[in-house]
Amino acid sequence: MRWLVIVAAAVLALSLLVLGIDLGHPLFNDLPLLSPVPLVAGMATLGYFSRRREGMIAFAASCFFLAAAAWMWSSRDRVGRLPARMLVVGVDGATWDVIDGMELPAFDRIRSEGAHGTLRSMEPMFSPLLWTTIASGRKPEAHGIRGFHVQSYDCQVARWWDVAEAQGRAVGLYKPLVDYPPRAFATGGFWVPSWLAPAPDTWPESLRPVKEVELGNRLRRKQVGEGGVGPRTFLGLVQAGVRLSTLLRGARWVVEDSISEPGPARRNVEMQLIRGYIDRDVFVAQVYATGAEVASLNLYATDGLAHLYWDRYEQGGPELRAAYAQADAVLGELLRRANGEMRLLVVSDHGFKAMDGSGEAGQFLPLTERVQSRLGAEGIGKVDVTRVGHKLTVGTAKASEAERARAIVLGWLDGEGEPFFRVEPYPGDPASLALTLAREAVTAERLATDTVGGEPIADYVKLSEAYTGTHDERGIILAWGQGVDPGTVIEGATLLDVAPTLLAGADLPAAEDMSGKSLLWPELPRVPTWDGLVPALRYMGGEAGSNEEMLEALGYTEGRK
Ligand SMILES: [Zn+2]
Repeated sequence: MRWLVIVAAAVLALSLLVLGIDLGHPLFNDLPLLSPVPLVAGMATLGYFSRRREGMIAFAASCFFLAAAAWMWSSRDRVGRLPARMLVVGVDGATWDVIDGMELPAFDRIRSEGAHGTLRSMEPMFSPLLWTTIASGRKPEAHGIRGFHVQSYDCQVARWWDVAEAQGRAVGLYKPLVDYPPRAFATGGFWVPSWLAPAPDTWPESLRPVKEVELGNRLRRKQVGEGGVGPRTFLGLVQAGVRLSTLLRGARWVVEDSISEPGPARRNVEMQLIRGYIDRDVFVAQVYATGAEVASLNLYATDGLAHLYWDRYEQGGPELRAAYAQADAVLGELLRRANGEMRLLVVSDHGFKAMDGSGEAGQFLPLTERVQSRLGAEGIGKVDVTRVGHKLTVGTAKASEAERARAIVLGWLDGEGEPFFRVEPYPGDPASLALTLAREAVTAERLATDTVGGEPIADYVKLSEAYTGTHDERGIILAWGQGVDPGTVIEGATLLDVAPTLLAGADLPAAEDMSGKSLLWPELPRVPTWDGLVPALRYMGGEAGSNEEMLEALGYTEGRK
């Protein structure tokens, strides 16, 4: 019977450990469904050994019952309602085309109890630029964010969190993009930067482990910090708010990764989902802990997995659907925890669609690096070349630079003496250009022989089947909570309407230099501009540059060293 006593004591010790952690972090044990396990074990112990009422049996059974009681206590959800007035969830790249084809109870609930519509995005469709337009209510020519190689202080205008802080609100920011380095809010709250961040700075510093896990490989390579999940990072994650179910998911993945050889799709999906659960856990815990009154959470798996697996999605595959199901679960939790006054806004920066693979040779990718370095060598300063789908965007500092870049690019002729690129302006952004291939017939033979402005074509384009989805203009918007009539359909919404809507929902005034309007809640009288706040913003030191590995993994560049 000794083994039974050992098992029972171990189960009790584990339950008490979880209880101990949960007393300090009441969202930690999120697995109430496990409570019956020790309970049943205790009853089985008594029942099975009922004829031998030895002391050891009674002891083992008591351990199981105590463990069940401890587990039941610690897995109760006892934190009450979220304290926030306004929550914003950004679901990167979300499109109704996917949502409408899935069973997503939280999206359905928001649609029936609240408002929904299509949110029209704008070219160039790069997430950092678009999220900055969303956060500021201003166009790129005003906010100045174009490429991916940008940091917080490059934003020339005030964003909603600057306004909320200036008006005395505690602000929670979780990965809104163009958010590195972070800064401290004088009014309280938290700030965790997004995937573009090159280093794990957060505010407060205690949230660093969240970024250290994400940046593990990068930190290891640069030999800064431990990299990966050491005991210190592990404890830090728990203290930041990561829950038991997320830790178990991570542990399961570590085991799976070491005993089997998961394919790249399985790895990509699981990495994205684990990151998403960490984000949910920490965001919710920090909103409770800091009393953030206005807070936003951005989810990116819906974009990352759509780039890679749109074709599989169209064939009924699970990869992208898993990301939407996770977003739905996050929304469901926020709805469940909402207080009676709370308002929820859900937006995507753009939608998604299949990448046009109709070129004669199917899938090709234009390359960014040579275009970037060649324009730099021609004296175009501050040029940022990025790829979305089959298109390159050339962002420059000003319209005259873009005009010069246009002339240079049109001078790059292919082997037939025709310009290799077709060059188009970007509506609304005179400092940017869009490049597409003039002849989209890219075959292995042409790749081996053709030239671009006297250089091998292989420096400008490659064959690839890695990316099957690309950004589409039709994003989503949903709103729910106080002041939103059930079943409202939002018509004609653009990205420029999000900031005024969000500010109205948070009882904050918009500015007259925002061209959009509140789509739902009544606006307060506007101030002339919020841009006067910008010069006083003091960001943390941080590290220069962007996270090139992530840019490469998402297919935006080939990764610059
Ligand atoms: Zn994308």
